[in-house]
Parts: sequence; C-alpha cells; structure tokens
Amino acid sequence: MPEDTYTKIIIEKVEKNTGFSLQQHGVSKHQWIRISKLSDVLRSALVIEQMLKVEAREVRPSKMKSGRHSALKDSLETLEMVKSGIWEKCDSIAASILYDSIRNSEAQAPSQSSGKVALSCPSCNGNITILSYDEYKCQKCGLGYSAKDYLNILYEKLKEI
Ligand SMILES: [Zn+2]
Repeated sequence: MPEDTYTKIIIEKVEKNTGFSLQQHGVSKHQWIRISKLSDVLRSALVIEQMLKVEAREVRPSKMKSGRHSALKDSLETLEMVKSGIWEKCDSIAASILYDSIRNSEAQAPSQSSGKVALSCPSCNGNITILSYDEYKCQKCGLGYSAKDYLNILYEKLKEI
C-alpha cells in the first residue's frame, strides 16, 4: 500500500499496540482501509492545526477581540477532540488486528494444540472461545466472561506472580 507521512504515523501508532510489523504480519483489507481513512482524517486535522497555530500567534492577548479569541479556543478544543479520537481509533484498529490474529491461529489449530491457550477458564481450566472482544465462553463448563471480568481475574493472578 502507498505510504505517505500520515499513513506512516498511523501505522506506527497501531504497531506500538500490536507489537509486530503490520506489513510482515499481514493485515486484512478491512483494517488497511480503516488505516487509510484514518490517515486522511489525520492529514486534514494537522493542516487545520497548522492554520490554528498561525492564528493563535496573530491573536495577541492585548488586541484580542473576544469573538475571534473564543472562536479560536473552540477550534483548538475541537482539534484536541479529533486528535484524541484518532489515537483511540489506532488503539481500536490494533485491537481488531490482534483479535483477527487470535481467531486465525485458533482456526489453524483448533482446540487442544500442544501449545498454550490464549485464554483458559479460571474456574475449570477449560479452553475459552472468544466470541467477541467482550464475550468469552468456556468450552468445558460453559461459564461466560466479559473482557472486564477476565481482566480482573488476570489482575488477581498478577498479584500471585
Ligand atoms: Zn470452565
């Protein structure tokens, strides 16, 4: 895929979360489309940011007309909202990629491979099927967990290590 500066920034952010190179690992077309759309949003946001910075320099506090100042302030706040939205989307894309990769490895080696299971049931030690980000079900005892449930269990486990 074509890589401009903005795409690179997005890819770097996503890779920080996935911990692997997207190019080498192979990522679904859908996720590349999200990355490309996100790069477009980032490009626009950074262009606007540059303009707002120039405006901010021109609006001296002494000469500040209240209307112009409050418009600038609103814009800067909205810009921050957009930027943090972009970084959140990077996290979300990384989560989707990781999720896809877990699903794919499950499909290749169903249930009991000799290796370790990503999620096992804290109650019966059975293998857990990941139904969605937030829905895990034990194949053996049928207990269900949300992401938060499971994370709390992991947190408890951490204390024992
Ligand atoms: Zn179980």
